[in-house]
Amino acid sequence: MTIKYDVIIVGAGAAGLMSAIEAGKRGRKVLLADHSLKIGEKIRISGGGRCNFTNINTHSSKFISKNPKFVISALSQYTQNDFISLIKKHNIKFHEKKLGQLFCDESAQQIVDMLLLECQMSNVTLIKEVIITDTGKVDDQYFITIGNDKYTCDSLIVATGGLSVPKIGASEFGYDVAKKFNLNIIETLPALVPLTFSEKILAICKELSGLSLEAVVFFNKTFFQEGMLFTHRGLSGPSILQISSYWQLGDAIKINLSPKLDIFKFLKNEKKLHPKHAISNVLSEILPKRLAFIICNENKVNGNISELPNKLLNQLSDSINNWVIYPIGSEGYRTAEVTRGGVDTNELSSKTMMSKKNPGLFFIGEVVDVTGHLGGYNFQWAWSSGFVAGQYA
Ligand SMILES: Cc1cc2nc3c(=O)[nH]c(=O)nc-3n(C[C@H](O)[C@H](O)[C@H](O)COP(=O)(O)OP(=O)(O)OC[C@H]3O[C@@H](n4cnc5c(N)ncnc54)[C@H](O)[C@@H]3O)c2cc1C
Repeated sequence: MTIKYDVIIVGAGAAGLMSAIEAGKRGRKVLLADHSLKIGEKIRISGGGRCNFTNINTHSSKFISKNPKFVISALSQYTQNDFISLIKKHNIKFHEKKLGQLFCDESAQQIVDMLLLECQMSNVTLIKEVIITDTGKVDDQYFITIGNDKYTCDSLIVATGGLSVPKIGASEFGYDVAKKFNLNIIETLPALVPLTFSEKILAICKELSGLSLEAVVFFNKTFFQEGMLFTHRGLSGPSILQISSYWQLGDAIKINLSPKLDIFKFLKNEKKLHPKHAISNVLSEILPKRLAFIICNENKVNGNISELPNKLLNQLSDSINNWVIYPIGSEGYRTAEVTRGGVDTNELSSKTMMSKKNPGLFFIGEVVDVTGHLGGYNFQWAWSSGFVAGQYA
């Protein structure tokens, strides 16, 4: 059987739901198809179940892409304030946690319910647990095949997200469609992901597992000052997740474990004031004890501070203010929050999200080469790019 729609959207995640609502509002006959049973699962589990749904500081500088200006149009057509208005219209209570990050007071499920209700109000037909076996274009009509049925449309929107967290439905579908229609793909990699290390550093991480502290993590000129966590697999916490979106295999990251203090100055001063104090105790005054002890061990220093030449104090300080380490990889898509890379933005109109080569074919959300910083930016990209496609599909 062949069934005709105006717009077909594949992927009922954040971006797909938003585009369906908007296309439906324009009176388009919309089909939204997803292979999962549970709709909006990533929204539901996000932000520890409270969904960090946007950031009041949303700005193009918070996004990574081969073309950093690409996001400007969509972000201005549908802003963080537009999404906040939608949340308010549905009486969903929210709060700012830190750094402009907005979370639901109660539950992320409220956002999923809101989007599903809006879809109903826009007369969107939602089909779940379907396996799409083919996609293509005949004359000026796109189609998808599900079982024996062929669904045709004027506009096909691909909103299947990235590759992170495969167990809740991530697939290669979007990239495969892009390739089929001759669109370039920027290499995909796990991002917003904990980093892993070879034996020596891993042993330190294991020893300090569970310890968290404020740190500045650098990759070349990019840096983030947020929490950092030692785990039994390596390093995690917001500052590490953020830098993972920039880090390149083979390169080092640099960590300042005590951003508020110049350790060398501090130690020279302590040497004058308290020459008899043990170096490990001196460091324990300003660092977590376990960390202070490991740093002393690694630098093979012990005894009173007065016994240590300034050269050694300088080396010790460097390993705190300027710790240079080489990650060997990341925890991968299993734990990555997002995927960096994706459909090349050069292939798409930034105003409409439509393929320049294939009128009527749209890519939105995470499947596109746009990666937000941690803090609600990735959802804002999904809402903004979804909204835009919904206006033009
Ligand atoms: C644990 C976790 C927590 C996160 N927390 C936050 C947060 O608090 N704030 C934030 O901004 N971002 C967060 N993110 C990132 C955010 O969830 C994503 O960037 C966002 O969901 C991307 O939206 P999307 O619609 O492009 O893709 P998705 O939301 O991933 O939706 C893609 C949809 O496509 C469907 N699909 C995939 N393949 C197929 C196929 N072959 N056929 C049919 N359907 C298919 C999937 O089932 C899914 O429903 C988090 C991510 C994770 C993994």
